[in-house]
Amino acid sequence: MKGSSPTPLISDIVLVGGGHAHVHILKMVGMPPLKNILEENGIQITLISSTVLTPYSGMLPGLVAGHYTEDEIHLDLRRLCSFSGIRFIHASAAGITYNDGGGGWVKCSDGRPDMRYDALSIDIGSSPHMQNAKSGTDVTVTPVKPISKFSERWKSICHRLQNTQLETYTPERPFTLVVVGGGAGGIELALSAQYALKNILISKASSSSQQQYSADDCIKIILATRGEHLLPSHNEGVRRIFSRIFKERNIEIRYGAEAIGVDYHDPIDLSSSQRKTLRLSPESSQESQPPIYFDECLWCTSAGAASWLSNDTPFATTEDGFLQVNETYELCNHPGVFAAGDCCHVIDNPRPKGKSV
Ligand SMILES: Cc1cc2nc3c(=O)[nH]c(=O)nc-3n(C[C@H](O)[C@H](O)[C@H](O)COP(=O)(O)OP(=O)(O)OC[C@H]3O[C@@H](n4cnc5c(N)ncnc54)[C@H](O)[C@@H]3O)c2cc1C
Repeated sequence: MKGSSPTPLISDIVLVGGGHAHVHILKMVGMPPLKNILEENGIQITLISSTVLTPYSGMLPGLVAGHYTEDEIHLDLRRLCSFSGIRFIHASAAGITYNDGGGGWVKCSDGRPDMRYDALSIDIGSSPHMQNAKSGTDVTVTPVKPISKFSERWKSICHRLQNTQLETYTPERPFTLVVVGGGAGGIELALSAQYALKNILISKASSSSQQQYSADDCIKIILATRGEHLLPSHNEGVRRIFSRIFKERNIEIRYGAEAIGVDYHDPIDLSSSQRKTLRLSPESSQESQPPIYFDECLWCTSAGAASWLSNDTPFATTEDGFLQVNETYELCNHPGVFAAGDCCHVIDNPRPKGKSV
Protein backbone atom coordinates (compact mmCIF):
# COMPACT_ATOMS: atom_id res chain seq x y z
CA MET A 1 0.00 0.00 0.00
CA LYS A 2 1.24 3.50 -0.82
CA GLY A 3 0.82 5.88 2.16
CA SER A 4 -2.87 6.04 3.15
CA SER A 5 -4.06 5.10 -0.33
CA PRO A 6 -6.61 2.27 -0.24
CA THR A 7 -5.55 1.12 -3.72
CA PRO A 8 -2.86 -1.56 -3.80
CA LEU A 9 0.21 -0.77 -5.84
CA ILE A 10 -0.12 -2.49 -9.13
CA SER A 11 2.51 -0.94 -11.33
CA ASP A 12 5.84 0.82 -11.17
CA ILE A 13 6.95 3.68 -13.35
CA VAL A 14 10.68 4.33 -13.05
CA LEU A 15 12.28 7.58 -14.18
CA VAL A 16 16.04 7.44 -14.73
CA GLY A 17 17.73 10.87 -14.49
CA GLY A 18 16.34 14.12 -13.14
CA GLY A 19 17.17 16.25 -16.16
CA HIS A 20 15.30 19.22 -17.59
CA ALA A 21 12.84 16.96 -19.41
CA HIS A 22 11.80 14.94 -16.32
CA VAL A 23 11.56 17.86 -13.92
CA HIS A 24 8.21 18.94 -15.40
CA ILE A 25 6.84 15.44 -14.87
CA LEU A 26 8.07 15.39 -11.28
CA LYS A 27 6.03 18.52 -10.60
CA MET A 28 2.89 17.52 -12.53
CA VAL A 29 2.69 14.19 -10.73
CA GLY A 30 2.13 16.05 -7.46
CA MET A 31 -0.87 17.99 -8.81
CA PRO A 32 -4.36 17.09 -10.02
CA PRO A 33 -5.41 15.54 -12.32
CA LEU A 34 -2.27 13.35 -12.61
CA LYS A 35 -1.94 12.88 -8.86
CA ASN A 36 -5.49 11.45 -8.59
CA ILE A 37 -5.15 9.26 -11.66
CA LEU A 38 -1.94 7.68 -10.33
CA GLU A 39 -3.42 7.11 -6.86
CA GLU A 40 -6.66 5.62 -8.18
CA ASN A 41 -4.74 3.21 -10.38
CA GLY A 42 -2.13 2.15 -7.82
CA ILE A 43 0.81 3.49 -9.80
CA GLN A 44 4.05 4.19 -7.93
CA ILE A 45 6.70 6.46 -9.44
CA THR A 46 10.40 6.23 -8.59
CA LEU A 47 13.15 8.62 -9.66
CA ILE A 48 16.72 7.31 -9.89
CA SER A 49 19.11 10.26 -10.09
CA SER A 50 22.88 10.51 -9.84
CA THR A 51 22.51 13.97 -8.28
CA VAL A 52 20.22 15.40 -5.62
CA LEU A 53 20.51 18.92 -6.99
CA THR A 54 19.91 19.33 -10.70
CA PRO A 55 21.19 22.51 -12.37
CA TYR A 56 19.27 24.65 -14.86
CA SER A 57 21.89 25.05 -17.59
CA GLY A 58 20.25 28.17 -19.04
CA MET A 59 21.44 29.95 -15.88
CA LEU A 60 24.98 28.50 -15.94
CA PRO A 61 26.53 31.43 -17.83
CA GLY A 62 24.98 33.69 -15.17
CA LEU A 63 26.66 31.61 -12.45
CA VAL A 64 30.00 31.90 -14.27
CA ALA A 65 29.58 35.66 -14.61
CA GLY A 66 28.80 35.89 -10.89
CA HIS A 67 25.17 37.04 -11.29
CA TYR A 68 23.66 33.92 -9.66
CA THR A 69 24.62 31.71 -6.74
CA GLU A 70 24.81 27.89 -6.87
CA ASP A 71 21.55 27.73 -4.92
CA GLU A 72 19.76 29.92 -7.43
CA ILE A 73 20.60 27.74 -10.44
CA HIS A 74 19.76 24.38 -8.84
CA LEU A 75 16.54 22.49 -8.22
CA ASP A 76 16.35 20.13 -5.25
CA LEU A 77 15.06 16.86 -6.71
CA ARG A 78 14.58 15.24 -3.31
CA ARG A 79 12.23 18.04 -2.22
CA LEU A 80 10.36 17.98 -5.50
CA CYS A 81 9.87 14.21 -5.18
CA SER A 82 8.70 14.54 -1.62
CA PHE A 83 6.12 17.15 -2.72
CA SER A 84 4.85 14.80 -5.43
CA GLY A 85 4.92 11.54 -3.47
CA ILE A 86 7.65 10.09 -5.70
CA ARG A 87 10.24 7.66 -4.34
CA PHE A 88 13.71 9.21 -4.71
CA ILE A 89 16.76 7.00 -5.14
CA HIS A 90 20.15 8.69 -5.18
CA ALA A 91 22.14 6.40 -7.52
CA SER A 92 23.51 6.11 -11.03
CA ALA A 93 21.78 3.72 -13.37
CA ALA A 94 24.32 1.56 -15.18
CA GLY A 95 22.28 -0.99 -17.14
CA ILE A 96 18.70 -1.94 -18.04
CA THR A 97 17.06 -5.23 -19.03
CA TYR A 98 13.78 -5.74 -20.90
CA ASN A 99 11.43 -8.72 -20.56
CA ASP A 100 9.69 -10.26 -23.56
CA GLY A 101 6.24 -9.21 -22.38
CA GLY A 102 7.40 -5.68 -21.43
CA GLY A 103 8.90 -4.21 -18.25
CA GLY A 104 12.28 -5.16 -16.86
CA TRP A 105 14.96 -4.17 -14.38
CA VAL A 106 17.28 -1.20 -13.82
CA LYS A 107 20.76 -1.92 -12.49
CA CYS A 108 22.60 0.76 -10.51
CA SER A 109 26.36 1.21 -10.26
CA ASP A 110 26.41 1.11 -6.43
CA GLY A 111 25.43 -2.57 -6.26
CA ARG A 112 21.98 -2.12 -4.67
CA PRO A 113 19.28 -4.65 -5.71
CA ASP A 114 17.98 -4.08 -9.25
CA MET A 115 14.81 -1.99 -9.54
CA ARG A 116 11.80 -3.47 -11.30
CA TYR A 117 9.81 -1.37 -13.75
CA ASP A 118 6.59 -1.76 -15.69
CA ALA A 119 7.18 1.45 -17.61
CA LEU A 120 10.42 3.40 -17.83
CA SER A 121 11.59 6.81 -18.97
CA ILE A 122 15.26 7.74 -19.42
CA ASP A 123 16.50 11.35 -19.25
CA ILE A 124 20.19 11.31 -18.39
CA GLY A 125 21.40 14.16 -20.62
CA SER A 126 24.74 14.20 -22.44
CA SER A 127 28.34 15.35 -21.95
CA PRO A 128 30.63 17.05 -24.46
CA HIS A 129 32.87 14.86 -26.64
CA MET A 130 36.30 15.24 -25.07
CA GLN A 131 38.34 13.70 -27.92
CA ASN A 132 41.69 12.89 -26.26
CA ALA A 133 41.69 15.76 -23.79
CA LYS A 134 41.75 14.46 -20.24
CA SER A 135 39.88 16.30 -17.53
CA GLY A 136 40.20 16.12 -13.76
CA THR A 137 41.63 17.97 -10.83
CA ASP A 138 45.25 17.78 -12.02
CA VAL A 139 44.67 19.06 -15.54
CA THR A 140 43.37 22.28 -16.92
CA VAL A 141 40.63 21.07 -19.24
CA THR A 142 37.14 21.54 -17.84
CA PRO A 143 34.17 19.94 -19.63
CA VAL A 144 30.97 21.94 -19.23
CA LYS A 145 29.06 18.80 -18.20
CA PRO A 146 28.37 17.34 -15.75
CA ILE A 147 27.58 20.81 -14.49
CA SER A 148 28.20 19.87 -10.82
CA LYS A 149 31.86 19.13 -11.64
CA PHE A 150 32.09 22.13 -13.95
CA SER A 151 31.02 24.58 -11.26
CA GLU A 152 33.58 23.13 -8.80
CA ARG A 153 36.34 23.55 -11.39
CA TRP A 154 35.14 27.04 -12.31
CA LYS A 155 35.46 28.04 -8.66
CA SER A 156 39.02 26.72 -8.61
CA ILE A 157 39.90 28.65 -11.79
CA CYS A 158 38.64 31.83 -10.10
CA HIS A 159 40.63 31.01 -6.92
CA ARG A 160 43.73 30.41 -9.02
CA LEU A 161 43.51 33.90 -10.50
CA GLN A 162 42.51 35.40 -7.17
CA ASN A 163 45.55 33.91 -5.45
CA THR A 164 48.12 34.83 -8.11
CA GLN A 165 50.35 37.88 -7.71
CA LEU A 166 48.94 40.78 -9.68
CA GLU A 167 52.14 41.27 -11.68
CA THR A 168 52.13 37.63 -12.95
CA TYR A 169 49.90 38.50 -15.86
CA THR A 170 50.85 41.26 -18.27
CA PRO A 171 49.84 42.30 -21.80
CA GLU A 172 52.74 40.13 -23.08
CA ARG A 173 51.75 37.18 -20.88
CA PRO A 174 48.00 37.51 -20.17
CA PHE A 175 46.00 34.91 -18.23
CA THR A 176 44.58 32.96 -21.17
CA LEU A 177 41.37 30.98 -21.16
CA VAL A 178 40.35 29.05 -24.25
CA VAL A 179 36.79 27.91 -24.81
CA VAL A 180 36.45 24.96 -27.20
CA GLY A 181 33.14 24.98 -29.09
CA GLY A 182 31.49 27.66 -31.21
CA GLY A 183 27.85 26.81 -30.44
CA ALA A 184 25.56 28.80 -28.15
CA GLY A 185 26.97 27.20 -24.99
CA GLY A 186 30.58 28.03 -25.91
CA ILE A 187 29.68 31.59 -26.81
CA GLU A 188 27.78 32.19 -23.59
CA LEU A 189 30.66 30.76 -21.57
CA ALA A 190 33.34 32.82 -23.35
CA LEU A 191 31.46 36.05 -22.70
CA SER A 192 30.57 35.28 -19.10
CA ALA A 193 34.04 33.94 -18.23
CA GLN A 194 35.68 37.08 -19.59
CA TYR A 195 33.35 39.23 -17.48
CA ALA A 196 34.09 37.26 -14.31
CA LEU A 197 37.87 37.00 -14.76
CA LYS A 198 38.24 40.70 -15.50
CA ASN A 199 36.21 41.52 -12.39
CA ILE A 200 38.60 39.43 -10.29
CA LEU A 201 41.60 41.38 -11.59
CA ILE A 202 39.80 44.71 -11.16
CA SER A 203 38.97 43.95 -7.54
CA LYS A 204 42.52 42.71 -6.86
CA ALA A 205 43.94 45.88 -8.43
CA SER A 206 41.67 48.13 -6.36
CA SER A 207 43.19 46.76 -3.15
CA SER A 208 46.79 46.85 -4.38
CA SER A 209 49.35 49.55 -4.99
CA GLN A 210 51.09 47.44 -7.67
CA GLN A 211 48.61 47.96 -10.47
CA GLN A 212 50.43 48.54 -13.77
CA TYR A 213 48.14 47.27 -16.51
CA SER A 214 44.40 47.25 -17.04
CA ALA A 215 42.39 44.04 -16.56
CA ASP A 216 41.45 44.26 -20.27
CA ASP A 217 45.10 43.73 -21.19
CA CYS A 218 45.83 40.95 -18.72
CA ILE A 219 42.93 38.60 -19.50
CA LYS A 220 42.79 36.94 -22.90
CA ILE A 221 39.86 34.83 -24.07
CA ILE A 222 40.07 32.66 -27.19
CA LEU A 223 37.18 30.73 -28.67
CA ALA A 224 38.24 27.76 -30.82
CA THR A 225 35.70 26.27 -33.21
CA ARG A 226 36.18 23.66 -35.90
CA GLY A 227 33.62 25.38 -38.16
CA GLU A 228 34.00 28.35 -40.45
CA HIS A 229 31.27 30.23 -38.54
CA LEU A 230 30.10 30.73 -35.00
CA LEU A 231 26.68 29.28 -34.19
CA PRO A 232 26.39 26.87 -37.15
CA SER A 233 22.75 26.05 -36.34
CA HIS A 234 21.69 29.72 -36.21
CA ASN A 235 20.90 32.15 -39.00
CA GLU A 236 23.29 34.59 -40.61
CA GLY A 237 21.87 37.62 -38.71
CA VAL A 238 22.51 36.07 -35.29
CA ARG A 239 26.04 35.03 -36.33
CA ARG A 240 26.79 38.59 -37.47
CA ILE A 241 25.61 40.03 -34.14
CA PHE A 242 27.85 37.69 -32.14
CA SER A 243 30.86 38.23 -34.41
CA ARG A 244 30.46 41.96 -33.76
CA ILE A 245 30.05 41.48 -30.00
CA PHE A 246 33.17 39.29 -29.87
CA LYS A 247 35.14 41.93 -31.75
CA GLU A 248 33.93 44.66 -29.40
CA ARG A 249 34.78 42.53 -26.38
CA ASN A 250 38.20 41.69 -27.84
CA ILE A 251 37.64 37.92 -27.76
CA GLU A 252 39.71 36.13 -30.38
CA ILE A 253 37.90 33.54 -32.50
CA ARG A 254 39.89 30.74 -34.12
CA TYR A 255 37.84 29.30 -36.96
CA GLY A 256 38.72 25.92 -38.49
CA ALA A 257 40.45 24.89 -35.26
CA GLU A 258 39.29 21.40 -34.31
CA ALA A 259 40.66 20.65 -30.84
CA ILE A 260 41.55 17.00 -30.27
CA GLY A 261 43.62 17.20 -27.09
CA VAL A 262 46.11 19.15 -25.02
CA ASP A 263 49.90 19.24 -24.90
CA TYR A 264 51.44 19.96 -21.53
CA HIS A 265 54.34 22.27 -22.11
CA ASP A 266 55.01 25.95 -22.45
CA PRO A 267 57.09 26.82 -25.47
CA ILE A 268 57.48 30.38 -24.19
CA ASP A 269 58.45 29.64 -20.60
CA LEU A 270 59.74 26.07 -20.30
CA SER A 271 60.20 26.40 -16.56
CA SER A 272 56.49 27.00 -16.16
CA SER A 273 54.08 24.12 -15.71
CA GLN A 274 51.18 26.50 -16.06
CA ARG A 275 50.74 26.92 -19.78
CA LYS A 276 49.39 24.33 -22.22
CA THR A 277 48.82 24.11 -25.96
CA LEU A 278 45.61 23.01 -27.59
CA ARG A 279 46.30 20.06 -29.86
CA LEU A 280 44.47 20.52 -33.16
CA SER A 281 43.46 17.89 -35.72
CA PRO A 282 45.91 17.40 -38.61
CA GLU A 283 43.39 19.12 -40.90
CA SER A 284 43.34 22.22 -38.68
CA SER A 285 46.95 22.52 -37.59
CA GLN A 286 48.35 23.82 -40.83
CA GLU A 287 50.77 26.72 -41.17
CA SER A 288 47.83 29.13 -41.18
CA GLN A 289 46.76 28.04 -37.70
CA PRO A 290 49.23 29.25 -35.07
CA PRO A 291 49.33 27.28 -31.79
CA ILE A 292 46.79 28.15 -29.11
CA TYR A 293 48.50 28.51 -25.71
CA PHE A 294 46.34 28.69 -22.62
CA ASP A 295 46.23 28.56 -18.85
CA GLU A 296 42.71 27.12 -18.59
CA CYS A 297 40.37 25.49 -21.07
CA LEU A 298 36.58 25.12 -20.98
CA TRP A 299 35.30 22.34 -23.25
CA CYS A 300 31.82 22.84 -24.70
CA THR A 301 31.62 20.81 -27.91
CA SER A 302 28.80 18.73 -29.34
CA ALA A 303 27.01 16.29 -27.08
CA GLY A 304 28.15 12.68 -26.53
CA ALA A 305 25.98 9.86 -25.15
CA ALA A 306 26.60 7.75 -22.02
CA SER A 307 28.32 4.55 -23.18
CA TRP A 308 26.19 2.25 -20.99
CA LEU A 309 23.11 3.03 -23.10
CA SER A 310 24.72 1.14 -26.01
CA ASN A 311 26.69 -1.39 -23.98
CA ASP A 312 24.37 -2.36 -21.13
CA THR A 313 20.83 -2.15 -22.48
CA PRO A 314 19.09 -4.05 -25.28
CA PHE A 315 17.84 -0.76 -26.78
CA ALA A 316 18.60 0.49 -30.29
CA THR A 317 20.96 3.47 -30.40
CA THR A 318 22.24 5.70 -33.17
CA GLU A 319 25.85 5.35 -34.38
CA ASP A 320 26.91 7.87 -31.77
CA GLY A 321 25.06 6.13 -28.96
CA PHE A 322 21.77 8.05 -28.54
CA LEU A 323 18.53 6.13 -27.87
CA GLN A 324 16.32 5.97 -30.93
CA VAL A 325 12.74 7.08 -30.23
CA ASN A 326 9.61 7.71 -32.27
CA GLU A 327 7.44 10.85 -32.29
CA THR A 328 5.90 9.96 -28.91
CA TYR A 329 9.40 9.46 -27.40
CA GLU A 330 8.84 5.70 -27.04
CA LEU A 331 11.72 3.43 -27.98
CA CYS A 332 11.19 1.94 -31.40
CA ASN A 333 11.30 -1.78 -30.50
CA HIS A 334 10.61 -1.68 -26.75
CA PRO A 335 7.05 -0.59 -25.91
CA GLY A 336 6.69 0.98 -22.47
CA VAL A 337 10.23 2.42 -22.48
CA PHE A 338 10.63 6.12 -23.23
CA ALA A 339 13.55 8.53 -23.48
CA ALA A 340 13.62 12.32 -23.45
CA GLY A 341 16.05 15.22 -23.65
CA ASP A 342 19.62 15.09 -24.93
CA CYS A 343 20.06 11.31 -24.52
CA CYS A 344 17.56 10.46 -27.26
CA HIS A 345 17.28 10.91 -31.00
CA VAL A 346 13.83 11.35 -32.55
CA ILE A 347 14.22 9.34 -35.73
CA ASP A 348 11.68 11.13 -37.93
CA ASN A 349 12.33 14.59 -36.53
CA PRO A 350 15.96 14.97 -35.38
CA ARG A 351 16.76 18.13 -33.43
CA PRO A 352 20.07 19.58 -32.25
CA LYS A 353 21.20 18.46 -28.79
CA GLY A 354 22.26 20.72 -25.99
CA LYS A 355 23.57 24.08 -27.15
CA SER A 356 27.05 23.42 -28.30
CA VAL A 357 29.10 22.59 -31.38
C1 LIG B 1 26.38 26.70 -21.07
C2 LIG B 1 25.10 26.05 -21.53
C3 LIG B 1 23.95 26.81 -21.65
C4 LIG B 1 22.77 26.23 -22.09
N1 LIG B 1 21.66 27.01 -22.19
C5 LIG B 1 20.51 26.49 -22.66
C6 LIG B 1 19.34 27.30 -22.81
O1 LIG B 1 19.34 28.50 -22.51
N2 LIG B 1 18.21 26.71 -23.30
C7 LIG B 1 18.19 25.37 -23.67
O2 LIG B 1 17.17 24.88 -24.13
N3 LIG B 1 19.29 24.58 -23.51
C8 LIG B 1 20.42 25.10 -23.02
N4 LIG B 1 21.53 24.30 -22.89
C9 LIG B 1 21.43 22.86 -23.25
C10 LIG B 1 20.84 22.08 -22.12
O3 LIG B 1 21.79 22.00 -21.06
C11 LIG B 1 20.52 20.65 -22.49
O4 LIG B 1 19.88 20.58 -23.73
C12 LIG B 1 19.61 20.09 -21.41
O5 LIG B 1 20.28 20.10 -20.17
C13 LIG B 1 19.24 18.67 -21.69
O6 LIG B 1 18.41 18.26 -20.65
P1 LIG B 1 18.18 16.75 -20.36
O7 LIG B 1 16.79 16.63 -19.81
O8 LIG B 1 18.51 15.92 -21.53
O9 LIG B 1 19.23 16.34 -19.25
P2 LIG B 1 20.11 17.18 -18.25
O10 LIG B 1 19.41 18.42 -17.83
O11 LIG B 1 21.47 17.27 -18.81
O12 LIG B 1 20.13 16.26 -16.95
C14 LIG B 1 20.52 14.91 -16.94
C15 LIG B 1 20.39 14.43 -15.51
O13 LIG B 1 20.56 13.04 -15.47
C16 LIG B 1 21.39 12.68 -14.37
N5 LIG B 1 22.09 11.47 -14.76
C17 LIG B 1 23.11 11.34 -15.64
N6 LIG B 1 23.49 10.05 -15.73
C18 LIG B 1 22.69 9.37 -14.90
C19 LIG B 1 22.61 7.98 -14.55
N7 LIG B 1 23.41 7.06 -15.11
N8 LIG B 1 21.68 7.61 -13.64
C20 LIG B 1 20.86 8.51 -13.08
N9 LIG B 1 20.90 9.83 -13.36
C21 LIG B 1 21.79 10.24 -14.27
C22 LIG B 1 22.32 13.87 -14.19
O14 LIG B 1 22.77 13.94 -12.87
C23 LIG B 1 21.42 15.04 -14.56
O15 LIG B 1 20.75 15.54 -13.43
C24 LIG B 1 22.73 24.84 -22.43
C25 LIG B 1 23.89 24.07 -22.30
C26 LIG B 1 25.06 24.67 -21.86
C27 LIG B 1 26.30 23.81 -21.75
